[in-house]
Amino acid sequence: MSGRPEALFGLFADVQGLDGIGPKTAQLLERIDITRPRDLLYTLPTGGIDRSVHQSVLDVPLPATVTVQVRIQSHQPASAKNRPYRVTVQDGRTSFQLVFFHARGDWLKRQLPVGELRFVSGRVEVFDGIAQMVHPDHILTEPELESLTGFEPVYPLTAGLTQKTLFRASRSVLERLPDLPEWISPDVMQREGWPKWSDAMLTAHAPQSLKDLSTDTPHKRRLAYDEFLSHQITLSIARARLKRKKGKPTTGTGVMQEAVLTAMPFKPTGAQTRSVTEIAADLASSQRMNRLLQGDVGSGKTLVALLAMLIVVEGGGQAALMAPTEILARQHLESLQPLAEVAGISLLLLTGRDKGDARREKLAAMASGRSGIVLGTHALFQSDVEFADLRLAVIDEQHRFGVRQRMDLSAKGEAVDVLVMTATPIPRSLSLAQYGDMDVSVLDEKPPGRKPVDTVIVSSSRLDQIIDRLRSAINQGRQAYWVCPLVEESEVVEMTAAQERFRALSVALGAEHVGLVHGQLPPAEKDAAMAAFVAGKTRVLVATTVIEVGVNIPNASIMVIEQAERFGLAQLHQLRGRVGRGAEASTCLLVYDTPLGDTARSRLEIMRETEDGFRIAEEDLRLRGAGDVLGVQQSGLPKFRIADLESQTSLMKMAQDDARFLLTQDPELDSDRGKAIRTLLYLMDRDQSIRLLQVG
Ligand code: ADP
Ligand code: MG
Repeated sequence: MSGRPEALFGLFADVQGLDGIGPKTAQLLERIDITRPRDLLYTLPTGGIDRSVHQSVLDVPLPATVTVQVRIQSHQPASAKNRPYRVTVQDGRTSFQLVFFHARGDWLKRQLPVGELRFVSGRVEVFDGIAQMVHPDHILTEPELESLTGFEPVYPLTAGLTQKTLFRASRSVLERLPDLPEWISPDVMQREGWPKWSDAMLTAHAPQSLKDLSTDTPHKRRLAYDEFLSHQITLSIARARLKRKKGKPTTGTGVMQEAVLTAMPFKPTGAQTRSVTEIAADLASSQRMNRLLQGDVGSGKTLVALLAMLIVVEGGGQAALMAPTEILARQHLESLQPLAEVAGISLLLLTGRDKGDARREKLAAMASGRSGIVLGTHALFQSDVEFADLRLAVIDEQHRFGVRQRMDLSAKGEAVDVLVMTATPIPRSLSLAQYGDMDVSVLDEKPPGRKPVDTVIVSSSRLDQIIDRLRSAINQGRQAYWVCPLVEESEVVEMTAAQERFRALSVALGAEHVGLVHGQLPPAEKDAAMAAFVAGKTRVLVATTVIEVGVNIPNASIMVIEQAERFGLAQLHQLRGRVGRGAEASTCLLVYDTPLGDTARSRLEIMRETEDGFRIAEEDLRLRGAGDVLGVQQSGLPKFRIADLESQTSLMKMAQDDARFLLTQDPELDSDRGKAIRTLLYLMDRDQSIRLLQVG
């Protein structure tokens, strides 16, 4: 099928060749991600200067940018080399000075002949009681005044680029805007009162007042909607493709689930039961499942996963649960094994540590179908791993997986149902953007009996006191995690910090009481350290963030986090979620280094105020912005140039409904609107999803 529509060729040419753009300017533009005329269009002015003509500079509160008509009265050339050249002028009410440094007198005399009228526009300030305009932006004769737009757009710049350059270049693109087919449905256009694309662009680049710059105008909303719509169409295409390719529909008998539910010491929460029902319906349908199970730390996602996997085994298939770390995979094995035995099956664990004969045996058990449920790390997805009849893949704690990775994963595996579990409470705005291709089940109810965690913010200058308190706590039989500073740039530095803290605490508390885990430790040592802590042999576990996700040790009731200000709130929330799981009242100490900035302090205070993961995520988003919360690259989220994820959630929701509906009506995008949507996708650099459509 055809590639990029001809109408878009001009917008995807080189920026060089546009009015006033040579190789040097092109390089500067590249710094702000502008390489094609299209990018110039999507770089909107962020401000504006009012150039409407006033009677006098005294008509506006100074300092301000003012445009007035003046009569030139006299020139006072510079008295010395580094003194300014001054021109005294008279407007409707007052006289003031135009000031020039390093100016050529003859040029100024020609521009500003004494006795004549000129329009001058620029920033006016008062010095020593005299109003001055230093280097006017514009000096114009009456006929030239027309070139001055009443309200001049101000573009985001990088060093070396001028407003004039950007203005001229974008004008030259705007003068040749192609006429594109409308991709938004007529009823939406009418209901919202939106202009067509080219008009929206023109207005966005030629604001008439500050009001036109606001995101909440019809033209800006329309352009934002274009961005959201292209994103949601992309997600919907991915979703539709996944759904199409289902393996076998699976229904359980309920026998194994029943056995497990009877043997468990507690009853599932309403949210757990509801989620299992939703998953069961997906498994039974002939379409492929692509579902996200979202539940705060401790909401009981593992049980949901187990029940889902049992449905598959009851139905004669196989299921796999993939955890992000070895520690977690092992822990799943330990907690799930007893329950699985009740159901009459045994679990298999496959990780990167399995080698040689042992590994071969496991692979054989999976390939023959003898193993119904396999737990493991990403080792499960290696190329030589084969299943007899894999029907469900559960991916635990993969909040860092983006759309693309999820697509890769499912492209690689069989036509299996996919359940992704995440503890990261993603604000709704981001969840729509990031997981718009998935159906979502939410565990919004915590198992009963959780004790609140007392969160305390302390300065690292009080480390000695903290250690004293820790000593008496462990003497009372309590256990503690001690999390060392996050060093994003280097795992080695992170490890060194952990080792040092380990040594210091060993001295202070007794070596037999202290254990250490970090990412660089040989696997066997890691296991041993975890095992000793689980068994209560060690009382304090010094760790890097490897313990961030999922670990469940009910007796641990103290969490110390060093340099807590360096962590993301979601991460702190995860870490804190490691305690408060037992009968004991728990404490979380957020230790910070001084000085602590205002934002950092408010972030830590949010942690003290609430244990509600959603609230924490919303606040984090508010304080840090979307890219930081998810990590733009990790999240697979596109950069929206016009749309604002945080404030325009309802637009995103509209785009999602629109996209999903469109794709069910016109899965190949063949209708007239479908074809217009293809143009939109090309315009938004979503060629990739069009290709998916074609492979279809
Ligand atoms: P997460 O959602 O963080 O993965 P887990 O699945 O690890 O949470 O569950 C946390 C703890 O809650 C576990 O000890 C688990 O046994 C317990 N749990 C799970 N469901 C329930 C329930 N319905 N009632 C009581 N405790 C539960
Ligand atoms: Mg978990």
